[in-house]
Amino acid sequence: MENKHVDLRSDTITLPTVEMREAMARAVVGDDVYGEDPMVKQLEQEGAACVGKEEAVFLPSGTMGNLVAVLSHTGRGDAVLLDSESHIFYYEAGGASVVGGVQFWPLEGLHAGVGAVEKIEKGVRPPDQHFAPVRLLCLENTHNRLGGVIMPPQEMEEIYSTARHLGLRVHLDGARIFNAASALDIPVTDLTCHCDSVMFCLSKGLGAPVGSLLAGTASFIAKARRNRKLLGGGMRQAGVLAAAGLLALEHRHALKDDHRRARELARGLSALPGLRVDPSPPPTNIIIVHTAEIKLSPEKFCDFLEEKGIRAIPFGENRVRMVTHRDISDEDIKRAINGVEACLLQFQSHG
Ligand SMILES: *Cc1c(COP(=O)(O)O)cnc(C)c1O
Repeated sequence: MENKHVDLRSDTITLPTVEMREAMARAVVGDDVYGEDPMVKQLEQEGAACVGKEEAVFLPSGTMGNLVAVLSHTGRGDAVLLDSESHIFYYEAGGASVVGGVQFWPLEGLHAGVGAVEKIEKGVRPPDQHFAPVRLLCLENTHNRLGGVIMPPQEMEEIYSTARHLGLRVHLDGARIFNAASALDIPVTDLTCHCDSVMFCLSKGLGAPVGSLLAGTASFIAKARRNRKLLGGGMRQAGVLAAAGLLALEHRHALKDDHRRARELARGLSALPGLRVDPSPPPTNIIIVHTAEIKLSPEKFCDFLEEKGIRAIPFGENRVRMVTHRDISDEDIKRAINGVEACLLQFQSHG
């Protein structure tokens, strides 16, 4: 297709592959709320095994997976520590506060790579009638708003042991945990062993049309199933989705290509006047382009890019986000770099 946009807005936009659609058509299904959908069962088992947990539950979205996790770890009036730039705090409609009556206690720079333990220790205040008791810590790996940044296993281990010492559970928002494992070239269990529960998305870089998994101990997942039902997330013949999810899970070993393309895109963009990519090189598949020097708002810049056939999203002050994914080819990366260059030239010549 000649005029197709190079769509770098998100890795959520990936379309199901032909194999996925065929598997969906063939899927033997049943009513999953009755525990009778073989595809869903298989996906939950394979997903749990993948991340080294006892059980997993299939959910319609990562947002619901995180919400169910927080609800299952906490009670009304409890406090939850998390990074102030985390997806759960920033992008999930305050769900756990609304539905679960929990208080988010955002920590600045929790994922800055230094000082996390001290921040957590400070965040957990001594028992006192004035303070909401902190029960849960949420981590995010890779970190979306920071640009696909990885928290290494040593740091996760240190944080997890601190959290346990303080009596906290740890939930990992691992929407892109396989990107982290792939970039570090380690088994994903080296990361997921340092948390009590982990949510990961099948519908991002892995390419499934819909779905996320939440994994943890059997008793935790039993609670999670109840909370999924409470939120209206119990699905019936969900095996048609799980069939695609199973193929998506296999794609976890192929994320390196997305990371290589992200580095290539970043290299090309950094060479253009006025554009800066940070972090550089991008650690995984997310590229944050800083636009301050070109004197265009992120919104305007994205509008110009759209005209050149490139899609990206404004991502905060002077920041534009681009994400590589399985529907982006080497050719698309070249087109994107050329398109951005054309866009900058046009803007400069018009002043
Ligand atoms: C996308 C994302 C989610 C939520 O997933 P949805 O399926 O879009 O609800 C959660 N956490 C992080 C870090 C994400 O990037």
